[in-house]
Amino acid sequence: MTQHRTLCPYCGVGCGLTVAPGSGANPWRVTGDRAHPSSLGNVCVKGATIAESLACDRLLYPQYRASLDQAFQRISWERALDLIVAQIRSILADHGPDRLCIYGSGQLQTEDYYVTQKFLKGHLGTNNFDSNSRLCMSSAVAAYSQSFGSDGPPCCYDDLEATDFAFIIGANMADCHPIAFNRFAKYHKRHPGVKLVVVDPRATATATKADLHLAINPGTDITLLNGIAHLIAQMGGIDQDFINHHSCNFEAYQAVIADYPPERVAAVCGVAIAHLEQTAQWWVNSQRVLSLWSMGINQSSEGTAKARTLINLHLMTGQIGKPGAGPFSLTGQPNAMGGRETGGLAHILPGYRSVTNPHHRAELETAWQLPPGQISPTPGKDAGEMIRSLERGEIDLLWIMATNPLVSLPDLHRVKAALHKSPFTILQDAYHPTETTAYAHLLLPAAQWSEKTGTMTNSERVVTLCPAFREPPGEARPDWQIVAAVGQRLGFPGFDFADAAAVYGEFVQLTAGRVCDLSGISHDRLRAMGPIQWPCPGGMEPQTHGQQLYQDLQFPTPDGRARFIAVHSGGLAEPPDPHYPFVLTVGRLYGHWHTQTRTGRIPKITKMHPQPFLEIHPRDAEKSGIAAGDWVVVRSRRGMGRFQAEVTKAIAPGTLFIPMHWGALWGEDTEANALTHGASCPDSKQPELKACAVQIERWG
Ligand code: SF4
Repeated sequence: MTQHRTLCPYCGVGCGLTVAPGSGANPWRVTGDRAHPSSLGNVCVKGATIAESLACDRLLYPQYRASLDQAFQRISWERALDLIVAQIRSILADHGPDRLCIYGSGQLQTEDYYVTQKFLKGHLGTNNFDSNSRLCMSSAVAAYSQSFGSDGPPCCYDDLEATDFAFIIGANMADCHPIAFNRFAKYHKRHPGVKLVVVDPRATATATKADLHLAINPGTDITLLNGIAHLIAQMGGIDQDFINHHSCNFEAYQAVIADYPPERVAAVCGVAIAHLEQTAQWWVNSQRVLSLWSMGINQSSEGTAKARTLINLHLMTGQIGKPGAGPFSLTGQPNAMGGRETGGLAHILPGYRSVTNPHHRAELETAWQLPPGQISPTPGKDAGEMIRSLERGEIDLLWIMATNPLVSLPDLHRVKAALHKSPFTILQDAYHPTETTAYAHLLLPAAQWSEKTGTMTNSERVVTLCPAFREPPGEARPDWQIVAAVGQRLGFPGFDFADAAAVYGEFVQLTAGRVCDLSGISHDRLRAMGPIQWPCPGGMEPQTHGQQLYQDLQFPTPDGRARFIAVHSGGLAEPPDPHYPFVLTVGRLYGHWHTQTRTGRIPKITKMHPQPFLEIHPRDAEKSGIAAGDWVVVRSRRGMGRFQAEVTKAIAPGTLFIPMHWGALWGEDTEANALTHGASCPDSKQPELKACAVQIERWG
C-alpha cells in the first residue's frame, strides 16, 4: 500500500504525518509519522482529522465580479491572469509599484513565498509584502534580530527533554502546541527534579501542569521579568564570564533592574513575593534553563521589548548555546519560519536579509539579474499600514493569499470598511466561502496540502517535504505557479521554473553563508533522508534534529556579542478605566486553527467546541449580576460581541477571556477582533491582540 510522508499543515510544531489510502467516507488514513524527528509519531486532533476538510467548500475555479455588490461569475484562468496583468500594468503606468500590495500567510509553502518575493520585491520593485505572521511572531523576529544580530530561534525540541527548568510565558502550549508540550510533560513527569513555571493571567491547561503558576496581571510581563532579574542578581546567579566576553550593555540593564525590588513587582504583577523568589531560585539553581514564549508575549504594543527582556535573563545567566537551555519562540503558523527564511515580511529579504541593507539588496539584485537599485530600500507596508493605506485610497491592488484577514486582523469593523474601499482585491485561497471572499473581486483557486509539492520549516528549524499525492480539485493551482504565471505574462525573466524543486534549489543558494543556511537541502535530499534541520550548508552532513545555534557563543553582531536591552514597561496600550473596567484577552482552543477555514468544517472538532464563550471570575460575575450560562454583551470602544458566561476561577479577577477563531461565518456577534484594537509594537509592528479594555452587561 502506498504511504506518503508529509507534514501537518496546521501549527508551527510541525508534526510528521503518514497518509495512506483509506476507504468509504475516509479516503485517506492519517497517522503520526514515527520517523519524524520533531513529533516522534505523535499527532493531535487537528493533524489526525486534516483529510476530512479536503473536499468541503473548495474554491474550484476562478471567479470575478467588478464590484462587491455583484455576484461572482466563473471565468477562465486565462481571463483571470489577463485581468491581473492589466491591473498591474495600469497601476505601474499611473502611480508606480507602491500602490500594489500582497498579504500572504504562514500557510504558504516556502516555494510560494520565495516566488512571490522575487516577483514583488525584485521585479516589481516594491516591498509591500506582508503576511499574517505579522500578527503572530514578528516581535520574536525583531527581538532575535536586535539581541543576537539575526533572526533565528536558537533552540530545538530536544531541549524540552534536556532542561532542568522550563519557564513558559505567554504561551498555552498544551492547547496551542500540544505535541511539543507533550514531549516536555512526559519528561517532566519522569523527572521530579525538573521544574516548570507558567506565567499567564489564565489558569490554562498548560498552567495546571506547572509546579508554579504566576497569574500575572495582563501587560506586566516586563515588570515581572525585570523583577526576576533583580532577584537573580541578588542571589548571585549572574554569569559574569558570559557577560564580560559575550554581551554588551549589561551595565544599563543592571541599573534598570535595580528598580525592581520584589515588593514593588509583586504589587504590580499581582503575584506573591514568595513565588517570585521561588522562580528566581529555580532559575539560579538550574544547570539548564529553557524559556518558551508565543503570542502572549509577541502580541503586544511592547512585544519586542518583552521578548528581549526575556532573552536578557538568559544572557545574564549564560543560559544559551548549550543543550536544554535558551530562549525559544514557538511559531503559530505551519510555515511562518519558511516565510522568515524567504523574506516574507515587509522589511526583510530572502536569507534573513534586510531591505534597508544596501549590501543585501545588491546581493539579490545580482542573483535575480536585476538592474542595480531595482529593490526598494524602503520597508514596505506592514499589515496594519495596508489597512490604513486602503482607508486613505493609497492602494490600487490588494492580493491576499491563503489567509482570512476578515477574522484575524484587529479592529475588524475598521478592516471591513477599509476592504470595502479597495479598488481591486484578489483572494487566492483553497476555500470558498470564507469571511474574506465576501470582500474580494477576483477569487483564484489554490491547491493546498496534499495537492502541491513544497517544503515547510517548523519552530525548531526542521524542514519537511510535503509532497503532492492527490490531484487538486477543479482548476486549483499551486500558489507559486499562479504568481510565476503572472510574472511571465508581465515579461519578467526567471519565472519559468520546471517544478517546485527548481524553485527551492534557486532559493536555498541565496541562504549560503547566512544564519539560516539551507544550501545543503534539496527536495531530492528531503525525499531520500526525510526532514533536515538547518543550518545545513552545502557539503555538511545533514542533521535531522538537536542542533542549537550559538554554541560557540559568537553572535552575528558586528562585535560578536549579544545585546542586553535596558527597558521599563509602558503598560497596556489601552488600560482599563471606569467606563471599560475589564481587560479582555483572547486565545486559541485546542481544536481550532486558521480562523476555522479547515477546522470549522470538521464535525469532530465542531462538536468539541460548539460555540464561543466568555470566561469571567466569580467575583466579577457576582458584581455584574451574571450567572454561569447567562448571555453577556461585551463592548469595547470599537465593537461588541455576545457570549455565554463561564464563571471560573481559571481567569484572574478584572480579566476576561474569549476564544478568537469565530468569524461571521460561524456565528453572529462572536468575533473577538470586533473588540480588539490595532495599536502595535513600534519595532515589530505586531498588534496588541492580547489585551483591550471592555465593559460587560448581562443580555436578555
Ligand atoms: S501539534 Fe500542530 S503540527 Fe502537530 S498535529 Fe497538532 S496541529 Fe498539527
